[in-house]
Amino acid sequence: MPTSPLPTTTTTPSKPTQHAAQAHILSTAIQSASLTRLQTVLQEICLESPEAYNLACQKLLVSSGKRKRESTHRYEICAQCKQEYDVTQNCSDACQWHPGVMEPDMDEFFADHGPEHGPVEDYRDEMPEGFVWDCCDARGDEEGCEVNVHLPGVGKKMRM
Ligand SMILES: [Zn+2]
Ligand SMILES: [Zn+2]
Repeated sequence: MPTSPLPTTTTTPSKPTQHAAQAHILSTAIQSASLTRLQTVLQEICLESPEAYNLACQKLLVSSGKRKRESTHRYEICAQCKQEYDVTQNCSDACQWHPGVMEPDMDEFFADHGPEHGPVEDYRDEMPEGFVWDCCDARGDEEGCEVNVHLPGVGKKMRM
């Protein structure tokens, strides 16, 4: 099936060049690709181009500080808040998190929750407001009650 041409506006001051149009299509392709696809593509690009390899090292690795030749991941997933963070931007109040666990609010929010709805735990990501943190009694979607630095997830460090 042939694709219909993109609608053109007469008000645009300068006609986008072929190059700009291509860049836009690439940008939307990157936005819509899966994470696994992007990871594979980036690995391939690094193998094919030494320049890309160096750029990827610059953006994704950081000197670990102890010994100059050792590098470590620039981005880690925090073991506390489970968010990705930049290890070069990890200040003392960067991480806001709950040390406790989320308990479902069975008395009110999930009062009508029957067995036909499946396990209540499955709603943790979808409806955090139906859960209560046992560390501070805050709702599941409320900001963390502890503030400190992000902690790298265990076993994620890799030296090069
Ligand atoms: Zn808390
Ligand atoms: Zn964190």
